[in-house]
Amino acid sequence: MGEVRAASRGEALRFKPPDWKHACHVLLYAPCPGRLFGKIPLRYAVLMQMRFDGRLGFPGGFVDPQDASLEEGLSRELHEELGPGAALLQVTENDYLNAYISERPQRVVAHFYVKQLSLEELRTLEERAVQAKDHGLEVMGLLRVPLYILRDGVGGLPAFLSNTFISSARDQLIQALDVFQLVPKETLQKAVNVAQKTS
Ligand code: AMP
Ligand code: MN
Repeated sequence: MGEVRAASRGEALRFKPPDWKHACHVLLYAPCPGRLFGKIPLRYAVLMQMRFDGRLGFPGGFVDPQDASLEEGLSRELHEELGPGAALLQVTENDYLNAYISERPQRVVAHFYVKQLSLEELRTLEERAVQAKDHGLEVMGLLRVPLYILRDGVGGLPAFLSNTFISSARDQLIQALDVFQLVPKETLQKAVNVAQKTS
């Protein structure tokens, strides 16, 4: 992958189609009170998906020129990838975090949104995702991100971060976990360091 940089919405919108393609993806999360093995706090349910190409990414995709806005394009992609549960979701400009701009392998402006749901909403989304048009095609399945580090120091978030991610998805995940305080800073830093050594 070529050089990637983060940008604000305003800056990102100066990169115009057809020279630049625009994509929108969203991180959906919900507070999650449960404990793994009755012990390890789960903290939050954070959704990602296994893509058709074997890489991890967030739901979303390219915005078409016919889409009235970025958010309309995102909404259309979410219906295709998450199925009927996407009707529960209203991702708006207020949920915008930032954009990642990359020139290679193609010129893409990847807009990134983060939205909090209730655990009940998130579970409904998970249940209905198997009815999505893209299920078993572009989307192999939704998954939750382990946010803890197990006693061996690798299992959990460090091992998860050692997977292969599409374009900026790994950076987007780490940034959102940090900005929205979904993982304590020291835990996140440690997970990133361990993942670097083990991959
Ligand atoms: P998609 O249709 O979901 O594959 O998204 C369209 C393009 O956006 C991909 O080909 C990637 O270049 C980029 N992309 C895909 N997923 C992500 C993601 N989670 N974060 C940032 N960019 C992505
Ligand atoms: Mn997609």
